Amino acid sequence: MSTQPNYHIFDYIVIGKGLMGSAAARYLSQMTSNVAVIGPDEPEDFASHPGVFASHYDQGRITRQISKDAIWSQLAMRAIDQYADLQQRSGIHFHEPVGCLFVAPPTDPYFSQVLDTAERFNVDYVVYGSSAERATAHPHLLFPEQFASVYEPAPAGYINPRELIQAQMKVARAQGTRLISEVVTAVTPTPQGAIVTTESGQVYWTRNVLVAAGAFSNVHALLPEKLPLRVKTETTILARISASEVARLQGMPSIVYMVDAPTLDKIYMLPPIQYPDGNCYVKMGCNTAHDQWLISLQEMRDWMISGESDVAMADMQAALTAVLPELKVESFESRRCLVTYTTHGKPYVDQVSEHVYVATGGNGSSAKSSDTIGWLAAHLMQMGDFPTGFKREGFRIQ
Ligand SMILES: Cc1cc2nc3c(=O)[nH]c(=O)nc-3n(C[C@H](O)[C@H](O)[C@H](O)COP(=O)(O)OP(=O)(O)OC[C@H]3O[C@@H](n4cnc5c(N)ncnc54)[C@H](O)[C@@H]3O)c2cc1C
Repeated sequence: MSTQPNYHIFDYIVIGKGLMGSAAARYLSQMTSNVAVIGPDEPEDFASHPGVFASHYDQGRITRQISKDAIWSQLAMRAIDQYADLQQRSGIHFHEPVGCLFVAPPTDPYFSQVLDTAERFNVDYVVYGSSAERATAHPHLLFPEQFASVYEPAPAGYINPRELIQAQMKVARAQGTRLISEVVTAVTPTPQGAIVTTESGQVYWTRNVLVAAGAFSNVHALLPEKLPLRVKTETTILARISASEVARLQGMPSIVYMVDAPTLDKIYMLPPIQYPDGNCYVKMGCNTAHDQWLISLQEMRDWMISGESDVAMADMQAALTAVLPELKVESFESRRCLVTYTTHGKPYVDQVSEHVYVATGGNGSSAKSSDTIGWLAAHLMQMGDFPTGFKREGFRIQ
Protein backbone atom coordinates (compact mmCIF):
# COMPACT_ATOMS: atom_id res chain seq x y z
CA MET A 1 0.00 0.00 0.00
CA SER A 2 1.35 3.48 -0.92
CA THR A 3 2.17 5.80 1.96
CA GLN A 4 2.46 8.82 -0.37
CA PRO A 5 0.19 11.70 0.65
CA ASN A 6 -2.38 12.64 -1.97
CA TYR A 7 -1.51 16.34 -1.79
CA HIS A 8 1.49 18.22 -3.16
CA ILE A 9 4.29 19.08 -0.71
CA PHE A 10 6.52 22.02 -1.61
CA ASP A 11 10.16 21.86 -0.60
CA TYR A 12 10.01 25.59 0.22
CA ILE A 13 7.28 28.17 0.54
CA VAL A 14 8.29 31.82 0.72
CA ILE A 15 5.68 34.13 2.29
CA GLY A 16 5.97 37.63 0.81
CA LYS A 17 6.63 38.61 -2.80
CA GLY A 18 8.72 41.60 -1.72
CA LEU A 19 12.38 42.44 -2.09
CA MET A 20 13.72 39.81 0.30
CA GLY A 21 11.16 37.11 -0.55
CA SER A 22 11.63 37.33 -4.31
CA ALA A 23 15.42 37.14 -3.92
CA ALA A 24 15.16 34.13 -1.59
CA ALA A 25 12.84 32.40 -4.08
CA ARG A 26 15.32 32.91 -6.90
CA TYR A 27 18.14 31.33 -4.89
CA LEU A 28 16.00 28.51 -3.45
CA SER A 29 14.78 27.58 -6.91
CA GLN A 30 18.34 27.24 -8.19
CA MET A 31 18.51 23.97 -6.21
CA THR A 32 14.94 22.69 -6.59
CA SER A 33 12.01 23.66 -8.77
CA ASN A 34 9.58 22.74 -5.99
CA VAL A 35 9.27 26.27 -4.55
CA ALA A 36 6.22 28.50 -4.11
CA VAL A 37 6.02 32.21 -3.35
CA ILE A 38 2.77 33.28 -1.72
CA GLY A 39 2.12 37.01 -1.61
CA PRO A 40 -0.25 39.60 -3.01
CA ASP A 41 0.43 41.96 -5.90
CA GLU A 42 0.73 45.70 -5.38
CA PRO A 43 -2.80 47.07 -4.86
CA GLU A 44 -4.13 49.21 -7.69
CA ASP A 45 -6.29 51.24 -5.34
CA PHE A 46 -5.00 51.65 -1.78
CA ALA A 47 -8.34 52.94 -0.46
CA SER A 48 -10.27 49.80 -1.34
CA HIS A 49 -7.43 47.37 -0.61
CA PRO A 50 -8.41 45.00 2.18
CA GLY A 51 -5.06 43.32 2.78
CA VAL A 52 -1.41 43.97 3.56
CA PHE A 53 0.92 46.51 1.94
CA ALA A 54 4.66 46.60 1.21
CA SER A 55 7.63 48.95 1.55
CA HIS A 56 8.70 48.82 -2.09
CA TYR A 57 5.86 50.52 -4.01
CA ASP A 58 8.18 53.04 -5.64
CA GLN A 59 10.52 53.67 -8.57
CA GLY A 60 13.76 54.46 -6.73
CA ARG A 61 15.84 53.13 -3.85
CA ILE A 62 19.37 54.36 -3.24
CA THR A 63 22.17 51.87 -3.66
CA ARG A 64 25.71 52.38 -2.39
CA GLN A 65 28.54 50.34 -0.99
CA ILE A 66 29.91 52.57 1.75
CA SER A 67 28.05 52.44 5.04
CA LYS A 68 28.76 53.29 8.66
CA ASP A 69 28.61 49.57 9.32
CA ALA A 70 30.91 47.05 7.62
CA ILE A 71 28.21 44.34 7.54
CA TRP A 72 25.86 46.64 5.60
CA SER A 73 28.70 47.37 3.19
CA GLN A 74 29.31 43.67 2.71
CA LEU A 75 25.59 43.00 2.11
CA ALA A 76 25.36 45.81 -0.42
CA MET A 77 28.55 44.95 -2.24
CA ARG A 78 27.58 41.37 -2.91
CA ALA A 79 24.11 42.45 -4.04
CA ILE A 80 25.47 45.13 -6.36
CA ASP A 81 27.80 42.53 -7.86
CA GLN A 82 24.72 40.52 -8.89
CA TYR A 83 22.77 43.37 -10.54
CA ALA A 84 24.25 43.06 -14.04
CA ASP A 85 23.84 39.29 -14.19
CA LEU A 86 20.27 39.48 -12.92
CA GLN A 87 19.40 42.23 -15.41
CA GLN A 88 20.89 40.18 -18.21
CA ARG A 89 19.18 36.92 -17.20
CA SER A 90 15.78 38.51 -16.67
CA GLY A 91 15.94 41.06 -19.46
CA ILE A 92 14.67 43.59 -16.90
CA HIS A 93 16.66 46.77 -16.26
CA PHE A 94 16.54 48.03 -12.67
CA HIS A 95 19.93 49.60 -11.84
CA GLU A 96 20.95 53.21 -12.61
CA PRO A 97 24.58 53.75 -11.56
CA VAL A 98 24.34 57.54 -11.21
CA GLY A 99 26.57 57.68 -8.10
CA CYS A 100 25.67 58.74 -4.58
CA LEU A 101 26.60 61.93 -2.73
CA PHE A 102 26.81 61.83 1.07
CA VAL A 103 26.65 65.21 2.85
CA ALA A 104 26.91 65.73 6.62
CA PRO A 105 28.61 67.76 9.34
CA PRO A 106 32.34 66.96 9.24
CA THR A 107 32.11 65.13 12.59
CA ASP A 108 29.76 62.47 11.18
CA PRO A 109 31.29 58.97 11.71
CA TYR A 110 30.55 58.16 8.07
CA PHE A 111 33.64 60.04 7.00
CA SER A 112 36.02 57.87 9.02
CA GLN A 113 34.07 54.77 7.92
CA VAL A 114 34.62 55.71 4.29
CA LEU A 115 38.35 55.22 4.68
CA ASP A 116 37.86 51.92 6.49
CA THR A 117 35.39 50.56 3.94
CA ALA A 118 37.38 51.78 1.00
CA GLU A 119 40.53 50.14 2.32
CA ARG A 120 38.84 46.87 3.32
CA PHE A 121 36.65 46.45 0.28
CA ASN A 122 38.47 48.51 -2.35
CA VAL A 123 35.62 50.95 -2.98
CA ASP A 124 36.15 54.10 -5.05
CA TYR A 125 35.18 57.43 -3.55
CA VAL A 126 35.90 61.15 -3.87
CA VAL A 127 36.20 63.45 -0.86
CA TYR A 128 35.47 67.07 -1.77
CA GLY A 129 37.97 69.33 -0.05
CA SER A 130 35.62 72.31 0.02
CA SER A 131 32.03 73.28 -0.71
CA ALA A 132 33.29 75.02 -3.86
CA GLU A 133 34.78 71.76 -5.10
CA ARG A 134 31.48 69.99 -4.36
CA ALA A 135 29.53 72.72 -6.15
CA THR A 136 31.74 72.40 -9.22
CA ALA A 137 31.09 68.67 -9.39
CA HIS A 138 27.35 68.98 -8.62
CA PRO A 139 26.33 72.44 -9.80
CA HIS A 140 22.55 72.04 -9.21
CA LEU A 141 22.92 71.12 -5.55
CA LEU A 142 23.30 73.41 -2.54
CA PHE A 143 24.26 72.42 0.99
CA PRO A 144 25.51 74.32 4.06
CA GLU A 145 29.01 75.54 3.33
CA GLN A 146 30.61 73.94 6.39
CA PHE A 147 29.19 70.47 5.62
CA ALA A 148 31.59 67.82 4.35
CA SER A 149 30.80 65.45 1.50
CA VAL A 150 31.89 62.24 -0.12
CA TYR A 151 30.89 61.09 -3.58
CA GLU A 152 30.67 57.37 -4.29
CA PRO A 153 30.69 56.83 -8.07
CA ALA A 154 29.06 54.00 -10.02
CA PRO A 155 27.94 51.35 -9.27
CA ALA A 156 26.36 53.47 -6.52
CA GLY A 157 23.18 55.19 -7.68
CA TYR A 158 19.69 53.78 -7.44
CA ILE A 159 17.61 50.73 -8.25
CA ASN A 160 13.96 50.45 -9.20
CA PRO A 161 12.55 48.16 -6.49
CA ARG A 162 9.46 47.18 -8.47
CA GLU A 163 11.60 46.16 -11.43
CA LEU A 164 14.07 44.35 -9.18
CA ILE A 165 11.23 42.19 -7.83
CA GLN A 166 10.00 41.55 -11.38
CA ALA A 167 13.51 40.45 -12.35
CA GLN A 168 13.90 38.14 -9.34
CA MET A 169 10.47 36.60 -9.92
CA LYS A 170 10.99 36.17 -13.64
CA VAL A 171 14.15 34.13 -13.05
CA ALA A 172 12.59 32.26 -10.11
CA ARG A 173 9.58 31.34 -12.24
CA ALA A 174 11.80 30.22 -15.10
CA GLN A 175 13.43 27.90 -12.54
CA GLY A 176 10.03 26.41 -11.74
CA THR A 177 8.83 28.57 -8.83
CA ARG A 178 5.05 28.73 -8.49
CA LEU A 179 3.54 32.12 -7.70
CA ILE A 180 0.36 32.28 -5.63
CA SER A 181 -1.07 35.80 -5.30
CA GLU A 182 -2.66 35.55 -1.88
CA VAL A 183 -2.23 36.73 1.70
CA VAL A 184 -1.15 34.05 4.17
CA THR A 185 -3.09 34.06 7.43
CA ALA A 186 -1.46 31.16 9.29
CA VAL A 187 1.59 28.94 9.38
CA THR A 188 1.09 25.78 11.42
CA PRO A 189 4.29 23.85 12.11
CA THR A 190 4.09 20.05 11.90
CA PRO A 191 6.79 17.46 12.70
CA GLN A 192 7.59 17.18 8.97
CA GLY A 193 7.22 20.81 7.90
CA ALA A 194 4.44 23.37 7.99
CA ILE A 195 0.90 23.95 6.78
CA VAL A 196 0.35 27.34 5.21
CA THR A 197 -3.20 28.71 5.11
CA THR A 198 -4.26 31.66 2.98
CA GLU A 199 -6.99 34.25 3.33
CA SER A 200 -9.22 32.42 0.83
CA GLY A 201 -8.90 29.22 2.86
CA GLN A 202 -6.42 27.45 0.56
CA VAL A 203 -4.01 25.15 2.36
CA TYR A 204 -0.47 24.31 1.21
CA TRP A 205 2.04 21.87 2.67
CA THR A 206 5.75 22.54 2.74
CA ARG A 207 8.89 21.02 4.17
CA ASN A 208 10.26 24.47 5.05
CA VAL A 209 8.77 27.95 5.09
CA LEU A 210 10.40 31.40 4.94
CA VAL A 211 8.46 34.34 6.36
CA ALA A 212 9.53 37.45 4.43
CA ALA A 213 6.46 39.58 5.04
CA GLY A 214 8.27 42.87 5.79
CA ALA A 215 6.39 45.23 8.09
CA PHE A 216 3.53 42.72 8.29
CA SER A 217 5.57 39.77 9.59
CA ASN A 218 3.99 39.99 13.06
CA VAL A 219 0.38 40.74 12.25
CA HIS A 220 -0.93 37.33 11.18
CA ALA A 221 -0.25 33.96 12.77
CA LEU A 222 2.85 33.45 10.62
CA LEU A 223 5.34 32.80 13.41
CA PRO A 224 5.31 30.86 16.70
CA GLU A 225 6.28 34.07 18.55
CA LYS A 226 6.20 37.72 17.57
CA LEU A 227 9.51 39.11 16.39
CA PRO A 228 11.08 42.11 18.14
CA LEU A 229 10.31 44.48 15.27
CA ARG A 230 9.34 48.16 15.37
CA VAL A 231 7.41 49.60 12.46
CA LYS A 232 7.59 53.34 11.73
CA THR A 233 5.62 55.52 9.37
CA GLU A 234 7.79 56.95 6.61
CA THR A 235 6.84 59.92 4.45
CA THR A 236 8.28 60.88 1.10
CA ILE A 237 7.47 63.77 -1.18
CA LEU A 238 7.48 63.74 -4.96
CA ALA A 239 8.26 66.97 -6.82
CA ARG A 240 6.85 66.77 -10.34
CA ILE A 241 9.07 68.45 -12.90
CA SER A 242 9.00 69.10 -16.64
CA ALA A 243 11.09 67.39 -19.31
CA SER A 244 13.33 70.47 -19.55
CA GLU A 245 14.01 70.32 -15.80
CA VAL A 246 14.81 66.62 -16.14
CA ALA A 247 17.32 67.50 -18.88
CA ARG A 248 18.81 70.30 -16.77
CA LEU A 249 19.37 67.90 -13.85
CA GLN A 250 21.15 65.35 -16.04
CA GLY A 251 23.94 63.78 -13.99
CA MET A 252 22.33 64.40 -10.59
CA PRO A 253 23.38 61.63 -8.18
CA SER A 254 21.36 60.00 -5.43
CA ILE A 255 21.83 61.93 -2.19
CA VAL A 256 22.03 61.09 1.51
CA TYR A 257 22.05 64.32 3.54
CA MET A 258 22.30 64.57 7.33
CA VAL A 259 20.29 67.76 7.42
CA ASP A 260 20.45 70.06 10.41
CA ALA A 261 16.77 70.96 10.81
CA PRO A 262 14.46 71.08 13.84
CA THR A 263 11.80 68.71 12.46
CA LEU A 264 13.63 66.61 9.86
CA ASP A 265 16.41 64.09 10.02
CA LYS A 266 18.42 62.02 7.52
CA ILE A 267 17.25 63.12 4.12
CA TYR A 268 17.51 60.88 1.07
CA MET A 269 16.87 62.18 -2.40
CA LEU A 270 16.71 60.61 -5.84
CA PRO A 271 17.41 62.24 -9.19
CA PRO A 272 14.47 62.65 -11.61
CA ILE A 273 12.79 59.31 -12.31
CA GLN A 274 9.81 58.52 -14.49
CA TYR A 275 6.86 57.09 -12.54
CA PRO A 276 4.08 54.84 -13.85
CA ASP A 277 1.84 57.88 -14.51
CA GLY A 278 4.35 58.99 -17.17
CA ASN A 279 5.55 62.04 -15.19
CA CYS A 280 9.04 62.61 -13.83
CA TYR A 281 9.60 63.32 -10.16
CA VAL A 282 12.43 64.15 -7.81
CA LYS A 283 11.77 62.14 -4.65
CA MET A 284 12.84 63.10 -1.15
CA GLY A 285 12.23 61.24 2.11
CA CYS A 286 13.40 61.60 5.70
CA ASN A 287 12.48 61.07 9.33
CA THR A 288 10.09 63.75 10.55
CA ALA A 289 8.86 64.93 13.94
CA HIS A 290 5.43 63.53 13.00
CA ASP A 291 6.57 59.92 12.46
CA GLN A 292 4.61 57.33 14.44
CA TRP A 293 5.33 53.81 15.65
CA LEU A 294 2.65 51.33 14.60
CA ILE A 295 1.78 47.91 15.96
CA SER A 296 -1.48 46.48 14.68
CA LEU A 297 -2.57 45.53 11.19
CA GLN A 298 -5.33 48.14 11.47
CA GLU A 299 -2.85 50.90 12.36
CA MET A 300 -0.62 50.01 9.42
CA ARG A 301 -3.53 49.78 7.00
CA ASP A 302 -4.96 53.12 8.23
CA TRP A 303 -1.58 54.79 7.71
CA MET A 304 -1.04 53.36 4.22
CA ILE A 305 -4.59 54.20 3.10
CA SER A 306 -5.21 57.59 4.64
CA GLY A 307 -2.39 58.56 7.04
CA GLU A 308 -1.68 62.26 7.48
CA SER A 309 1.44 62.34 5.34
CA ASP A 310 0.90 65.98 4.40
CA VAL A 311 1.64 67.25 7.93
CA ALA A 312 5.37 67.39 7.25
CA MET A 313 4.90 68.60 3.68
CA ALA A 314 5.86 72.27 4.21
CA ASP A 315 9.12 71.42 6.01
CA MET A 316 9.98 68.72 3.50
CA GLN A 317 9.29 70.97 0.52
CA ALA A 318 11.49 73.65 2.05
CA ALA A 319 14.30 71.13 2.53
CA LEU A 320 14.03 69.83 -1.03
CA THR A 321 14.04 73.28 -2.58
CA ALA A 322 16.96 74.33 -0.33
CA VAL A 323 19.05 71.54 -1.91
CA LEU A 324 17.75 72.26 -5.44
CA PRO A 325 17.19 76.05 -5.25
CA GLU A 326 16.52 76.56 -8.95
CA LEU A 327 14.13 73.66 -9.35
CA LYS A 328 10.88 74.56 -11.10
CA VAL A 329 8.34 72.30 -9.43
CA GLU A 330 4.94 71.80 -11.08
CA SER A 331 3.37 70.16 -8.03
CA PHE A 332 4.23 68.37 -4.82
CA GLU A 333 2.58 65.30 -3.40
CA SER A 334 3.30 63.11 -0.40
CA ARG A 335 3.51 59.32 -0.30
CA ARG A 336 3.31 56.94 2.65
CA CYS A 337 5.49 53.95 3.43
CA LEU A 338 6.56 51.77 6.38
CA VAL A 339 10.05 51.13 7.73
CA THR A 340 10.70 48.04 9.85
CA TYR A 341 13.48 48.15 12.45
CA THR A 342 15.16 45.25 14.27
CA THR A 343 16.84 45.49 17.65
CA HIS A 344 20.39 45.29 16.28
CA GLY A 345 19.90 47.32 13.13
CA LYS A 346 20.50 44.42 10.70
CA PRO A 347 17.84 42.29 9.07
CA TYR A 348 16.76 39.15 10.90
CA VAL A 349 17.78 36.14 8.82
CA ASP A 350 17.22 33.25 11.18
CA GLN A 351 15.54 29.96 11.94
CA VAL A 352 12.66 30.26 14.43
CA SER A 353 11.62 26.59 14.70
CA GLU A 354 12.55 23.33 13.01
CA HIS A 355 10.98 24.15 9.62
CA VAL A 356 10.25 27.88 9.94
CA TYR A 357 12.68 30.65 8.95
CA VAL A 358 12.51 34.46 8.70
CA ALA A 359 14.08 37.16 6.53
CA THR A 360 12.69 40.51 7.57
CA GLY A 361 13.53 43.85 9.19
CA GLY A 362 14.90 46.04 6.43
CA ASN A 363 15.82 48.96 8.75
CA GLY A 364 15.14 51.35 5.88
CA SER A 365 18.24 50.15 4.06
CA SER A 366 17.59 46.72 2.60
CA ALA A 367 16.34 47.32 -0.92
CA LYS A 368 19.86 47.66 -2.29
CA SER A 369 21.02 44.55 -0.40
CA SER A 370 17.89 42.43 -0.72
CA ASP A 371 19.56 40.05 -3.15
CA THR A 372 22.22 39.16 -0.56
CA ILE A 373 19.64 38.90 2.23
CA GLY A 374 17.57 36.47 0.14
CA TRP A 375 20.72 34.54 -0.68
CA LEU A 376 21.65 34.23 3.02
CA ALA A 377 18.14 33.01 3.86
CA ALA A 378 18.16 30.46 1.05
CA HIS A 379 21.61 29.22 2.05
CA LEU A 380 20.55 28.87 5.69
CA MET A 381 17.45 26.90 4.69
CA GLN A 382 19.27 24.62 2.29
CA MET A 383 22.65 24.18 3.97
CA GLY A 384 21.85 24.83 7.64
CA ASP A 385 24.29 27.70 7.88
CA PHE A 386 25.41 30.95 6.26
CA PRO A 387 27.85 30.97 3.35
CA THR A 388 31.50 31.73 4.03
CA GLY A 389 32.09 35.41 4.68
CA PHE A 390 28.88 36.07 6.65
CA LYS A 391 28.36 35.26 10.32
CA ARG A 392 24.93 34.18 11.56
CA GLU A 393 25.39 36.08 14.84
CA GLY A 394 24.89 39.45 13.17
CA PHE A 395 21.47 38.45 11.82
CA ARG A 396 19.96 36.44 14.66
CA ILE A 397 16.66 37.43 16.27
CA GLN A 398 17.40 39.14 19.57
C1 LIG B 1 10.14 55.43 1.75
C2 LIG B 1 11.20 54.38 1.82
C3 LIG B 1 12.44 54.63 1.26
C4 LIG B 1 13.43 53.65 1.28
N1 LIG B 1 14.62 53.93 0.68
C5 LIG B 1 15.56 52.97 0.62
C6 LIG B 1 16.75 53.23 -0.09
O1 LIG B 1 16.95 54.32 -0.64
N2 LIG B 1 17.67 52.23 -0.19
C7 LIG B 1 17.46 51.00 0.39
O2 LIG B 1 18.34 50.14 0.27
N3 LIG B 1 16.33 50.73 1.09
C8 LIG B 1 15.38 51.68 1.20
N4 LIG B 1 14.21 51.43 1.86
C9 LIG B 1 14.03 50.14 2.53
C10 LIG B 1 13.53 49.02 1.65
O3 LIG B 1 12.51 49.44 0.78
C11 LIG B 1 13.05 47.91 2.57
O4 LIG B 1 14.12 47.57 3.46
C12 LIG B 1 12.61 46.69 1.79
O5 LIG B 1 11.46 46.96 1.04
C13 LIG B 1 12.35 45.53 2.74
O6 LIG B 1 12.09 44.38 1.96
P1 LIG B 1 11.13 43.24 2.54
O7 LIG B 1 11.13 42.16 1.55
O8 LIG B 1 11.47 42.96 3.96
O9 LIG B 1 9.69 43.97 2.60
P2 LIG B 1 8.73 44.36 1.42
O10 LIG B 1 9.49 44.80 0.24
O11 LIG B 1 7.73 45.29 2.03
O12 LIG B 1 8.01 43.00 1.06
C14 LIG B 1 7.20 42.31 1.98
C15 LIG B 1 6.14 41.59 1.17
O13 LIG B 1 5.41 40.73 2.04
C16 LIG B 1 4.06 40.75 1.63
N5 LIG B 1 3.25 40.29 2.74
C17 LIG B 1 3.04 40.90 3.93
N6 LIG B 1 2.25 40.14 4.71
C18 LIG B 1 1.97 39.03 4.00
C19 LIG B 1 1.19 37.89 4.25
N7 LIG B 1 0.56 37.71 5.42
N8 LIG B 1 1.08 36.94 3.30
C20 LIG B 1 1.72 37.08 2.10
N9 LIG B 1 2.48 38.16 1.81
C21 LIG B 1 2.60 39.11 2.75
C22 LIG B 1 3.82 42.18 1.21
O14 LIG B 1 2.71 42.25 0.33
C23 LIG B 1 5.14 42.53 0.52
O15 LIG B 1 5.07 42.28 -0.86
C24 LIG B 1 13.20 52.40 1.89
C25 LIG B 1 11.96 52.15 2.49
C26 LIG B 1 10.97 53.13 2.46
C27 LIG B 1 9.66 52.84 3.11
